[in-house]
Amino acid sequence: MKFLKDLSKKEIAGKTCLLRIDLNIAEKEARNSSRILGILPTIKFLTDNGAKVVILSHRGRPKPVKWANSKSKILNSKEFSLKPFVKILSKLLNKQIKFVDFNKNWKEIAATINGSKNNIFLLENLRFLVGEEKNNPKLAKQLANLGDMYVNDAFAVSHRANASVEAITKFLPSCAGFLLEREIKNLSAMMKPKKPLVIILGGAKISDKIGLIENFIERADYFLIGGGIAHNFLLAQGLPIGDSIFEEKTVEFAKKILNNKKVILPVDYKIKNRKILDIGPNTISLYENIIKKAKTIIWNGPMGYFENPKFAKGSEGIVKAIINNKKAFSIIGGGETTSLLRSAQINADKNADKRRYPRLFISTGGGAMLEYLAGKKLPGIKALE
Ligand code: ADP
Ligand code: MG
Repeated sequence: MKFLKDLSKKEIAGKTCLLRIDLNIAEKEARNSSRILGILPTIKFLTDNGAKVVILSHRGRPKPVKWANSKSKILNSKEFSLKPFVKILSKLLNKQIKFVDFNKNWKEIAATINGSKNNIFLLENLRFLVGEEKNNPKLAKQLANLGDMYVNDAFAVSHRANASVEAITKFLPSCAGFLLEREIKNLSAMMKPKKPLVIILGGAKISDKIGLIENFIERADYFLIGGGIAHNFLLAQGLPIGDSIFEEKTVEFAKKILNNKKVILPVDYKIKNRKILDIGPNTISLYENIIKKAKTIIWNGPMGYFENPKFAKGSEGIVKAIINNKKAFSIIGGGETTSLLRSAQINADKNADKRRYPRLFISTGGGAMLEYLAGKKLPGIKALE
């Protein structure tokens, strides 16, 4: 795989670089999001070395339309437009950014980019176009025609075979940006972890996490289970869960690994209105004691319904235990899980805090991280190999 850091100035200067990033972030979170802060060095490196940068991204799930020359209403759908990110990125980079919408044809778009004195452009939400999620080679080629090289710095969408992630690499010299490189380096290190390896799993859906559990059942020493996924294990034991959340189809899986000694279940819970909403105090200390001994930690999924502070104690306990373990290297990922870090005032999501928490890696991927750790080849990464 080629990495951006290995390219010489000669290979970059004067080029127009298509840079795929992930701006699928709530606007109010954007300024502090590791997804945005993490790509700033890539943009700076490219422009410092004399490239024009055309930023590609998607946002949300708009209903796509067939083709772009139409002045369709959907193309102007405000809710999903990337336009607000012009201001956000401009401010963070202290540079002007030109927004390019789809009310033009490809030729006009190319002319806008080539003819402009600006050197950073943001293209409108690619999921407005029907081919993006279908990995359409025609769309990929149209995009590729806008530049001379392609950089993928969108780890969080690299598990999706999308035109701007996968197919585009067939038409341009392509490489991994700094953020993607960091993700690959840190996550691949998990395949040969320092032991003991403790994996903490919570959140709403166990089905997302089965691949990871199976891939690590030999390598890991403990799986600490919490959040909604613990309820599936209770059901597997034939215990009642009241009105708590669960996933019907995964009870069989829970039965299969229930008696594995590595799988540790909560010993008490916080319950309200017939719903289990957090792990209890005894579970928190049990988990703290195990986390204390770890040399490697992976965490995805909150321990409870943490959006209500009354049920955030379990997750906060995990955060503290991870931070207090000064020997372990820890990887934390998932949209909600990392937002928890911000609300816990740790601010570790700002990669700038590397100095304070040098042994903590905050992955920018939710689904992508889980698939990577499940041992799957992500289409966006495979395409760069
Ligand atoms: P991430 O986004 O970090 O990958 P998930 O999406 O898997 O995490 O799960 C996060 C969600 O799980 C949170 O919104 C949280 O409220 C919810 N959750 C965790 N435990 C419970 C529970 N016991 N009852 C209801 N919701 C829960
Ligand atoms: Mg989530």
